Parts: sequence; structure tokens; C-alpha cells
Amino acid sequence: MRLKISHNMEIAHRLSLAPESSKCYKIHGHGMQVELLFLVEQGADGMAVNSANQPMEYGDMKKMFRDHIDGKYDHHLILNEEDPWAVTLIDRNKGVNGVEGTLPGLVTVPGDPTTENLAKWIAEWACGNYRCDVICCIDETQTNGAEVKYHWNSFGASMIRGSI
Ligand SMILES: [Zn+2]
Repeated sequence: MRLKISHNMEIAHRLSLAPESSKCYKIHGHGMQVELLFLVEQGADGMAVNSANQPMEYGDMKKMFRDHIDGKYDHHLILNEEDPWAVTLIDRNKGVNGVEGTLPGLVTVPGDPTTENLAKWIAEWACGNYRCDVICCIDETQTNGAEVKYHWNSFGASMIRGSI
């Protein structure tokens, strides 16, 4: 059985490893639709259960998912931590010597924030937190997107290559 929840996120990003001639090299934005599919069993009471035999309740599942997406990705600028533009800045308008900080909304990630990587990071998070096999689907536009499947076991989440 598969359970399904979804959420949207509005993000800005750029792909620092893309060719300079690529439009993805420039900062731009997307309204992404993120869907999680949970591959679960059905318990005797009719409710779905995860791999640890815990009931999956939609309200709790959606709150945890939305808190994660809203807190980490939605309305953020997502940059590769190796991107030379993902730097600490000095705000020269604050005090005589300025105040160090980062661009408001900047989030750095361990790799270029491609839709493929975003799907992997969200799937890995979901797999470990919901404790079951998970497929994460992200539509970055109306016409393209990425899907990835992660397998949960008691040692943690791992990506299943080429399985979907
Ligand atoms: Zn993009």
C-alpha cells in the first residue's frame, strides 16, 4: 500500500556546477510541488503502519513534512555550500564595523541544489523520520521533475538505484 502526502515550496537556487552558458547557472526561482509516497503495510485496525509497526496518521505525517519543507526550503535561496557566492557577508549598515551574517533566507546544502538532489535529500529525511520505504517526487515545473526511492532499515535510509 502507498500513502501519499504533498506540499509546495517556492525556492530560489542556482546550479554552480552547470556551464556558465546554462540558464540554471543564474539565480532563478521555482514553484515546486513535492510529493511523498510511503510504501507501508496495513494493520489489523485498517490503519497503515510503518516498518517499525507504528501507525501512520495523516495529520501527524503532514505536519512533520510541512514543518521540514517550510523551515528548510520554502522561500529560501538554496546554494551549494561550495558555491563561492554562499559566503558570510558584512552588513555595513549595522554599526561602525558592520555585522557579520548571511543573506536573509540563504540555506547551503552539500551539493548543487538540483531537483534530483532535492528529491534525494527530502527522501532520505523522510525515510529516516517516517521509518519506511519512501518515494519522493518533485515537479520543478509543469513539464519536468524527478523521483527517487529510499529504503529504510534499522541502520538508516539508503537510496535504491534504478528501481523506479
Ligand atoms: Zn532551477
